[in-house]
Order: sequence, then structure tokens, then C-alpha cells
Amino acid sequence: MASSDAQRIVTVSQRGAQRIRAGHVWVYRSDVVEAREVTPGGLVTVQEEDVFRARQLSDKSVRPTRAGAARARMLGSALYSTASEIAVRMISSRPVADLPQLVRERIRAAVAYRKRLVENTNAYRVIFSEADFLPGLIVDRYNDLLSMQIVTQAMDAEAMRSVVVSELREAFDPAAIVERIDPRVRRLEQLPDKESGLISGDKTGTEFQMNGMRFVYEALGGQKTGAFLDQRENYAAAAQYARGEALDVFCYQGGFALHLAVKCSRVTGVDSSRPALEVADKNASLNGREIEWIEANAFDLLRDYADAGRQYDCVVLDPPAFAKSKQNLATALRGYKELNLRALKMLRPGGVLVTCSCSYHVSAADLLETVTAAGVDSHRNLRLLENRGAAKDHPSVLGIPETTYLKCLIVTLS
Ligand code: SAH
Repeated sequence: MASSDAQRIVTVSQRGAQRIRAGHVWVYRSDVVEAREVTPGGLVTVQEEDVFRARQLSDKSVRPTRAGAARARMLGSALYSTASEIAVRMISSRPVADLPQLVRERIRAAVAYRKRLVENTNAYRVIFSEADFLPGLIVDRYNDLLSMQIVTQAMDAEAMRSVVVSELREAFDPAAIVERIDPRVRRLEQLPDKESGLISGDKTGTEFQMNGMRFVYEALGGQKTGAFLDQRENYAAAAQYARGEALDVFCYQGGFALHLAVKCSRVTGVDSSRPALEVADKNASLNGREIEWIEANAFDLLRDYADAGRQYDCVVLDPPAFAKSKQNLATALRGYKELNLRALKMLRPGGVLVTCSCSYHVSAADLLETVTAAGVDSHRNLRLLENRGAAKDHPSVLGIPETTYLKCLIVTLS
């Protein structure tokens, strides 16, 4: 990345500028008015389009005034992508002279925030992209291993990578750092193909703990970057209310199931992924728990179990994101409603439903409305015990709605 890139100016529309002033950090390509000689991942200065001047150029009868001249407004510094629909990701409202230094400071701030707020675990998200003002960089800690993912041109630059790795080593002295690759994301960002692999040290497996429970971690296997760390506080919340017989639907590696097993007499976990269930079973053994794991399509299984009159005291629903875009929100909500309806039908009086959605496009209000409707259809009266989000190491930044994506409701039948 050439340092002279800082001089490159990207002009954004008024709509784009307004978004930034409201606290957001993205400008879509459709709101970029001009971006000359920008390089992939370059540091740029962002300014608002001078509407008066634009009009003046097309309408010679308009005479320039001082007020008009003052309208070109500097909005700050950003990292530019020549490929993504999100062309501009703001990193500061001020000029940035030394980008590596800024990244260093942001990493230290992210680490300090977790030190202050994360407890009862040695596995958590250390850096969460825009939510830590480090767009394109995600780092998770699993005990002595760090897993890193880079999803933007700017963060993929060698200069950035070396700052990130040296700061992480300094902060954690990890046994290894693994880079996880999502080939689809890299292609969208026009980054060269690459394999997941070690970038420091040589350890790829470890054991971590959360809320007093033990889990295995294989850095080069599994979905996402390993466990669903964003559910950590919800596991503990769910366990508070659980008792009797429990069913964890979409259980993955058994996060909820294991926590419920401490309180419940019998726990069943359901997932369609055999590899996930194999890890779940290892986790159960590690904690000396007997859990029944069933490999099945959750929709079919819930229908069959509901038809067969099976009853539970606690059901967890944590499906994958059904709404990948705004366009399929209605279909997604129908999916959530169906699942919740079936789950409610299987709950005994006084039973507890823990129901989650990790679709950003499904709002907390949407989920609440859907569960309410499922309650009405199943003739159950529901009481809301908790309305929760992601664990605090996955910060929700006000002004950046996309950082608030996970919802978790805990309700009980009255
Ligand atoms: N509750 C888990 C995370 C669930 S992620 C935790 O806390 O760790 C969603 C899970 O749904 C994945 O494990 C995926 O394999 C599973 N899945 C996706 N579609 C499914 C289906 N139709 N039936 C059952 N499981 C499914």
C-alpha cells in the first residue's frame, strides 16, 4: 500500500455522507461519485460531493457563492475496496498519517475491552471487524490458539498482516495462529485463492473452557472459525431455567446441550451435520456427560416428534441464518414460525423455550412477533423471561445496525 494513497480522494454522494454522519462506516459503491486512481485496499480521504458545484457545472445560470464553496465536506479516512459492493469502510473521522500505528492502537483497545468484559472463559472473539473499528479483520481466541480471518483487500496487505500478527503475539503469546479462509469471500473481494493454514507456531488442536465446561477445538476443521462463541452468555442464561428433559435443536458441537446437561435429567441434541455431532460427542465425554445425539433434518424430526406426542421441559432452537437477504425475509419468518410452533407444541406446562435467530435481516421485533404468533397458534400463553443478544465480545455498535445480528429469546409457558 503506497503511503501517497492517503492523498487519494473518494467523493461520496450526500446519501453516503449522511450515513457516515449517522455513525455508520460503510459507503456502498452506488454512493461513490468519484474515486480516481484508487488502489485495492488503499487508504483514502473521503469527502462529500459538492452538490452546489455539481449543479453549477450543469446549469451555467447558477453563480457560485461562498456558502456553496464550503459545501465540499471532509468526512474522514477510509479503506477502499475496488471489488466489494461496500467500496468504502471508514476508519477515522480524521486524517490518518500512520495506518499501521492506528491498527496497532485499535488491536490494543480491542484486547483491553475483552479483558474488562469477558469472564468465565478462555475462548472469545478478540477482534470483530467493524465492531472493533478494524473492518475486515476477525480474530478468535481458543485458549492458547488464535484463529484469524481476513475479508478485505486492505487487511490482506502484507503491511497490515505483519502488524496484526506482531500485536497478537505480543498480547497473547499464542502457541499458534491459524488463518481461516472463506474462499467465497476472498473471491468476492478479488483476493488470490489461498488455503487455511498455520501462519505462526505449529499447534492446531487444543481444549478450551467456558462457564466451567470443557470443549475441544480443531483449528483446521469445523464450520465458521470453530465454536459459536457469540452464544456463550446465552448458554449460561438458558441453563439457569432448564430442568427435566431437554431437546437442543441445531446443536452443532453441543454448546447448549452441554450446558443444559448440568441441570437436566436427559438431553438430546439434533443436527444434520455428522462431523459437528462427532465433536459434540467428544465434548460430552470430556465433561463426563451422557447426551443423545441424533443426526437428522430438524424440520422432519420436529414434525415426527410432535406428531408422536413427545414432550419436553426445555427446547432450544438455534437454526442457521434463514434470511440471507431482505428479499427472503418473509420465507425465513415462515420457517422460524414453523419451528417455534412445533417446539411449543412439545413443551410441558412450565416448560422453557430458548429460541434464536442469527439472521441480521430478522430484527428482534420480528422474532418476538413470530414467537408471539406461534404461541397464539399453539394455544399457549407465553411469558418472556429474557430478550438477549450476542455475548459482549461480539459488540453491538450503535449506528452500525449490522453489528447486531444475534437474537435469543427465552420464554416460558405459563
Ligand atoms: N447451537 C449451536 C449453533 C448452531 S449453528 C451452538 O451453539 O454451537 C446451526 C446448525 O444447524 C449447524 O450445526 C448446522 O449443521 C445445522 N443445520 C442446518 N440445517 C439443518 C437442518 N435442516 N436440520 C438440522 N440441522 C441443521
